[in-house]
Formats: sequence, structure tokens, C-alpha cells
Amino acid sequence: MLPVPGPPLASLYTTEEGKAELFRTYLRGLFDEWLRCGKKVMPTESNAWASGIGPVPPYSTETTWTVFLVPEGLGTRPRESLKPVDESDPAFDSWLWKVYWDYLWHRKPTIWFDSRGEVFFQYMSPANENPIKPVTIPPFLNAESARSTAWAEAVLWFILVLNSGHAQLLDRCVHCQRYFVRQREMKEGQLYKRNGPSCGTCKGLDSNARTQTARDKAKDRMLDVAAEEWGNWKHSHRTPDRYKAVMHRVNERCRNEIHVTTRKHRIEARWVKRNEREITLRAEQRIEPKGANQNAKS
Ligand SMILES: [Zn+2]
Repeated sequence: MLPVPGPPLASLYTTEEGKAELFRTYLRGLFDEWLRCGKKVMPTESNAWASGIGPVPPYSTETTWTVFLVPEGLGTRPRESLKPVDESDPAFDSWLWKVYWDYLWHRKPTIWFDSRGEVFFQYMSPANENPIKPVTIPPFLNAESARSTAWAEAVLWFILVLNSGHAQLLDRCVHCQRYFVRQREMKEGQLYKRNGPSCGTCKGLDSNARTQTARDKAKDRMLDVAAEEWGNWKHSHRTPDRYKAVMHRVNERCRNEIHVTTRKHRIEARWVKRNEREITLRAEQRIEPKGANQNAKS
């Protein structure tokens, strides 16, 4: 997990299962577009500058700064100082930078510098407010869902990760679609080998083997999770159907794996039924690990 200050992601919507799922979907949508754009949120150079007043000796050591971050087009700098727009850039024409700046425009962070030179950005969480209707809506949202707190919160967390200073370490494997964090940032101008970034598991395998390995691993993990949840299931009014209960838990815990194996976002209860033999077998093995039962029997 990237070291982003604030509450852990899992605790944001612990009471509302559906909302947590939406939040994750939206956050994933933002990051996928950001990765597609080459980890940029701007199609061209933004206008970013700061002006400060102070300190005023001997009265004050504080300096009051105003920081301007203005997207291209809204800037007040002379136009000739801006680079020409590169239309082949994947960030050109993306909804992402509009979403980003629209959010900051409506919910300006409080920025201040202290006397040691530290800079603070303070963002207010929109989780308990009625979010403002955004100007730009990404393709996976409609006007109604764009007004949801889950979306506003996802944009906020996206911005927090970008400001964490570690965002450039995040990548997504082109083979297994998993997100992973690099240990070191890529050097400037360094290009991905082959088609794009590959995670530690997929590196060194040829591309067919990579895809197959990734699928096998993903399926294996799904079966393990299903077996665990199969064992955890207790009949109740909320979870009368064991297949459905297991399905919900797998959907919740194995989002990446589901995408790798099925290219879909969720599994149906029939996936659990189809794999019932393997799941129950694994569930039994969880209770009686191999070898352990032989001593018990003698
Ligand atoms: Zn991979």
C-alpha cells in the first residue's frame, strides 16, 4: 500500500458494502486512465507558480504563500510561453485532467507553508457532504452517479496518492492486470520493455506462458478464497444461499483475479456451483491439512 496519509481505504465505507465497491471501481477507473496517459494528468504543461509575502523581521518568521495551479486554457500567462499541444499524446483529449482540475476548482485545498519550509495541503473529505455536480464526467459514469459521494471520494483519494510523492512507483502489469509498486522510480526517458510494465511474477516468462501463469495463479487464488468463505459460511436470514454468499465474498476479495480469468468484473453464483467439487475439497483440506489427520486416526 502506498503511504498516503489519512484513514485506511477499507475503513471509508465499512457500513455500506455497495458503496465501497463503487468507490474501488471509480478509483480504479481514475488510475487506469492515468496510467494510460503515461502518468500525467495534464495534456500540456500546466501553469504552476507561487508568490509569497514575508517574513517580516523582527515581527514574524511566517511567510504567507499563494500557490496557483492552473490548467492550460485557464491560465493568465502569455500564450506564447506555453508549449504547443501534442495531439498524439495519450493525455490529449482525456477526461482525466478535466476531472482532476474540476475537483480542485470546486474544493480548493488549503495550502500553507510553515516557518521550517514545510508545505501543507489540506483536503476536506466529501464523504459526509452533498457533492457538487462535476463539469466533466468520465465515460464509466452517468450524471446521477457523478454526484455520488463515492465518486467524489475516489477523486479525492486519487489526488492524495498523486500528491503522496510515491505515485510514480505505481504500475499495472500488462499481462496479469495486477497493480504493483516498483521499488525504484523509472529513470527519465526509460521505456518499458515489450508492450508495457510487467510485474515480478510475469517478468522473464514468454508472453503466452505469462498469460497462462497469470490465469492459473488467479484462478488458484479465487478457489482458495472461495474455499475459505465456504467454510466461514453460516446459514442466516442475510445469507440463506451458500453459493451466493461465497460469490459475494469472492467478488469482494478477488477483483483483480476475476478480471484476469474472466475479463469480467464479477463472478456469478454459477461459478461457485461449477467449481463446487474443487472448492469443497480445498475447504476440507483447510480443516484437515494433509498428513495431520494420519496421526489423529492412529
Ligand atoms: Zn503480471
